[in-house]
Amino acid sequence: MNLKGKTRSCICIILTIVLISISLIYSFAVSASPTSDISAGTSRMLSESDSLLPASTSTPVPSQYPTGIHDMECYIKPDFSSPGPSAFKDFIIKLERSGTVYYQGITDENGNMKFYGIPVLPWNITISKAGFLTRTVNNMTSLNLGSPNEPLDIWAGDINQDSAINMSDIIEIAKCFNTTLGETGYNAAADLNADKVINMADVMIACKHFNKTSGNYTSDNPVENVTITISILGNDDFGYTGGGWVNISPASNEGISQGGSGSQKLTFPKGTQVTITAETWGNVNRVGFYDAKTNKSLSQPLVLNVQGGESIIVGIEASDPTPIISPTPTFTSTPTPTATATATATATPTPVGTPIATATSTPTATPKFYGIPYEVKTTLTANSITKDSANISTYIEVNNYALVRGDGKLVYWKKNNPEDKISKDVSISASKTSDTQITGLDVNTVYCYQIKTSIIPYGEVQTGPFEYYFIYGDSESYVSSVYEFSTLPE
Ligand code: CA
Ligand code: CA
Repeated sequence: MNLKGKTRSCICIILTIVLISISLIYSFAVSASPTSDISAGTSRMLSESDSLLPASTSTPVPSQYPTGIHDMECYIKPDFSSPGPSAFKDFIIKLERSGTVYYQGITDENGNMKFYGIPVLPWNITISKAGFLTRTVNNMTSLNLGSPNEPLDIWAGDINQDSAINMSDIIEIAKCFNTTLGETGYNAAADLNADKVINMADVMIACKHFNKTSGNYTSDNPVENVTITISILGNDDFGYTGGGWVNISPASNEGISQGGSGSQKLTFPKGTQVTITAETWGNVNRVGFYDAKTNKSLSQPLVLNVQGGESIIVGIEASDPTPIISPTPTFTSTPTPTATATATATATPTPVGTPIATATSTPTATPKFYGIPYEVKTTLTANSITKDSANISTYIEVNNYALVRGDGKLVYWKKNNPEDKISKDVSISASKTSDTQITGLDVNTVYCYQIKTSIIPYGEVQTGPFEYYFIYGDSESYVSSVYEFSTLPE
């Protein structure tokens, strides 16, 4: 019989066997678990030469990793009876995210490997090997892939690697039936149990998951997401009552890494080590962690391996939300502006006065003043002008860290007689327009006018890294620019 005839005969025999084999599928015994020794497992992060990013090392790190970094242990088992060490070897495990493979490794003779120092992420994982049905685990939500007691099963028989085990694969086995390693025609992919000979044992193995595809793995996919609740109380900056934030690491599956106020339900891969820290600033500076399910206080930072259902309350009490401004502001004592302006001009005079006494001789970092200097903008407008009267609108805008006193004076005079000034009381509110009627003016005359009032700066002083005091400064005189208008002629 020539080789072609021999092959054809084999196919006939094998197809018959296939039918018998399928009926025998459930008689296969579960194979032995591999040992938990993973030291021989090899892994590497892909280098730039692999055209994949990023490049880095995967050297084992003896010290504890920062939050969000861990070692991932992988336990793989070929799912057929009594696999030998060679069958456990050489499964390729790839960790992929957003279409890019970041890490890959190869299992050892125990079906194990370990990724060192990788970020905790919902990785998409593929496990593949010639002759085996590729398995994917999307958004893997446990820290390890399988476990020593429950390694991840990979089904054998996809000889042609089309993500299905079917008759095409049996035919592939038939093509090299009865060949041994080193012989012409031997196909290592068809030697499913890796015993260096392709025979009935390999056919039986392929039949165990006959007509299965990669999608059929999904039903026993180990992925599990869990939800925890983090309630954050009092970290808002409203009304100078608190300042702080809560950091959550790693980011949840929703991408949240920092908590706001109120309750948040966050999902993580089950078993993820989540670290929660809180930071505050202010002269009241307290943080508390509380387990709402057990009614127990917790220490911070809070580290927990989330199992789902955790209910964590983070309470924050703090004051002074003001961001740090440095160095210490300086005050200038420039003279009152004297330049004239048109009746509708806006002036931004420099505050006049001396700094608060305790601020003048502090060249060191603390105490620091915050919120000083201030800025005052005054707009004076003459309107309703007649031959002997006018209405003066006063608008004062005080930006940040200063108060205008409620009283002031409108001062006006004939431009050609600056020695003879008239002063009139006005009531001033910041950011509100007040109108003052002036009468008894001369016909067809240019008048000058300005506002004089006082300003109270306020701000905070820092006396320590987290110690603040809120203070009001001494009242300082404030004089606006000079404006002009002209009364109407007869
Ligand atoms: Ca196939
Ligand atoms: Ca074999």
